[in-house]
Amino acid sequence: MIDTKQLWQHLIEHLEKHISRAHLLTYFQESKILCIKGDVLTLGVSNPFALETIRTRYNDMLLEVIKSYCPEITQIEFEITTIKKEDKVSLQDIVKAPKPQVIEMVKGISSKLLNGRYRLSNFVTGDHSELAFAVAKSVTRSPGVKYNPVFLYGGVGLGKTHLLQAIGNEMASNKSDIKVVYTTTEQFINDMIESIGSRRTDRFRKKYRQIDILLIDDIQFLKNKEKTQEEFFHTFNVLYDANKQIIVSADTNPRLLKGITDRLVSRFQSGMIVEITKPDRDTRMAILQQKAQEQSQLLDEDIIGYVADNCDGSVRDMEAVLGQIIARIELTNKVPTKTLIDGILGLQQVPKTPKKKQTVSIANPESIIDQFARLYDQSYDDLIGGSRKKNLNLPRQLAMYVIKKKFDMPFEDIGNIFNKRNHATIMYACKKVSEILRVNRKLKAEVEEIIKK
Ligand code: ADP
Ligand code: MG
Repeated sequence: MIDTKQLWQHLIEHLEKHISRAHLLTYFQESKILCIKGDVLTLGVSNPFALETIRTRYNDMLLEVIKSYCPEITQIEFEITTIKKEDKVSLQDIVKAPKPQVIEMVKGISSKLLNGRYRLSNFVTGDHSELAFAVAKSVTRSPGVKYNPVFLYGGVGLGKTHLLQAIGNEMASNKSDIKVVYTTTEQFINDMIESIGSRRTDRFRKKYRQIDILLIDDIQFLKNKEKTQEEFFHTFNVLYDANKQIIVSADTNPRLLKGITDRLVSRFQSGMIVEITKPDRDTRMAILQQKAQEQSQLLDEDIIGYVADNCDGSVRDMEAVLGQIIARIELTNKVPTKTLIDGILGLQQVPKTPKKKQTVSIANPESIIDQFARLYDQSYDDLIGGSRKKNLNLPRQLAMYVIKKKFDMPFEDIGNIFNKRNHATIMYACKKVSEILRVNRKLKAEVEEIIKK
């Protein structure tokens, strides 16, 4: 039995991250899940206006989140109801609002971006991050002395932001009068533009230059922003010349940064360059265990191992999968089965033995559709047709994705093959499949093989 109250709570928590608080209060405060029957979830809403808005604007978002907890639900129905006072959720209570700790370390430069959740103590180290962690630690002990600048790089979701923020938090709680600023490159760009707009560039400069530690995240976003690069170059020099600590993160090695001036790249190369790579299996297990513990859940080794085996290394993706497993446990009070975890990992519809033997020559979109139809025991016509049957979704979306990847056809043209679906549907399918493939290595390998053929 699904605990609808819990499910509603998860939904609200998710929505809170994606829509404004005002909208959340206006449309969702007086709503609740009335019942779940079969594959339909019925949502009670207090007035026609809210109903219409939720139905037209939020239906897809809600459904997607609901599905991630309860894959069997495929539809939301709406009903106007009066919600009894005792049933009304207080959003203030429900939204635990993990408000980022506002640490105003330098007056005028908000370090609102610093989130106390990221600490050195909850960063799990392994071969993939040992050096990065050691450097981070050393920097907190003696900033600006040993390693300067530090250039930390690695793929998405591998812990760069976590480490940068952890350094900031560590310094902030040391209560020393060392001034630390953590900022994203995006924020730096915005601050600069704003300061130009309000003719306050002097203030902007002074403030970014009167600090002891500058932590700046995702520097690759300076790409092709000549003016900001110039400004940053000067900030960098002022700080560097005064022996202030600079730590920069990026998604790639400085040598491979694109659209960034040589002089800046050579500054980045002049210090300590550290890479964070993907964690190995043991470290993945340790990270998952740590994350589960943080949510007060003790998970079985088998479950952790299974997730560690089937995620391909992005800690962010692993965390997302784990979050869904934990939510599911909370919702149903049951230990998740392997089938359920397969569902979360997007593995459930993958046939155990793909019928690869019936080789079809893959040379055009039609043969790709044919291939996926056979693989999933569906008919070609069903796959391209308008039926919304649940088990057609995955093979259909996979076919759309592969056609896009293999032939680079415009979304519109692909849409035409699939019963004149519009381009947004195809785009959505491609995005969805990329997400699934990110966490499902097995399927990814199969799809890649089909693309290669
Ligand atoms: P990046 O900035 O490299 O894209 P993040 O630092 O945002 O990645 O990490 C994504 C998520 O994974 C965060 O929630 C972070 O806490 C977690 N994470 C990444 N690496 C580790 C690690 N080694 N130990 C604990 N948590 C980690
Ligand atoms: Mg990051």
